[in-house]
Amino acid sequence: MIITPSLSLLYCPNCNEKLTIEPMFSETNTSCSTCGYTEPAGSVHFVTFITEVLSQFLKNLGVEEIIIGDASTNDLRAAVDAQAILPALLVNAKLNTNTIGNGFNNIPLTTVHDESAFYQRRVVTSTNSIRNPSIAISTLSETLFAAHKMSMINNPTKGKKALDLNLLSPISVSQQSSITEYTSNDAVMNTTSQKMEAQ
Ligand SMILES: [Zn+2]
Repeated sequence: MIITPSLSLLYCPNCNEKLTIEPMFSETNTSCSTCGYTEPAGSVHFVTFITEVLSQFLKNLGVEEIIIGDASTNDLRAAVDAQAILPALLVNAKLNTNTIGNGFNNIPLTTVHDESAFYQRRVVTSTNSIRNPSIAISTLSETLFAAHKMSMINNPTKGKKALDLNLLSPISVSQQSSITEYTSNDAVMNTTSQKMEAQ
């Protein structure tokens, strides 16, 4: 399967110039020739794949509408995009799997600053050697599934058709500053641990 990266991910989160993205299985990192920004090889492909899987998962659950703050959308794919609410899902998935144990909480995703993104954060991979992609997919799906269960209890008239992401737990999508802060700290931790691994 060849994955066509999401259009929005083709541009640098730092300076908005077009990124140099190698073909899917290349080991060369993605880079920006204008500002020097880099991200792990294959990041855009993997993150696009996650978005595809999650939006399909929601369709299969019967979701037709996603509620974010006071707004709602029926474009499921756009809602779970790397620049949309994916950073919030990632924070929650990481916090939720923390309790299972550190070994399991090894989701190979992090975020970078992106001025044009919903939380000013964009999801990227934290490594170019992803050994277990199912960890990312299962933990993010589980987080959405839990919010969907809460939505159905809270709004029985809409039932399975609505996913209220204000019910995302432990940090709701509407707590924008908490999500931005947490993802920034998490990104710093990821960079530190990568540096330690490299030494
Ligand atoms: Zn750039």
